[in-house]
Amino acid sequence: MGEIIAFKRPRPKAAHKGRTLCNSGFHKWEVTAGTPFDVKSGKLVTRYRCPRCGATRTEAR
Ligand SMILES: [Zn+2]
Repeated sequence: MGEIIAFKRPRPKAAHKGRTLCNSGFHKWEVTAGTPFDVKSGKLVTRYRCPRCGATRTEAR
């Protein structure tokens, strides 16, 4: 019995481009398609993803 949690970690292709901005906290947040439902919190959330560095974040709404 094991819990396998697969995280989809997209590899940043252009890691260098805009990396400075990302490191400074200025990510290029884009709304990602998919279920706007956070299983963990059980709330409707909006998912964002930075195409530059691949960072993701969720925002409750
Ligand atoms: Zn970023």
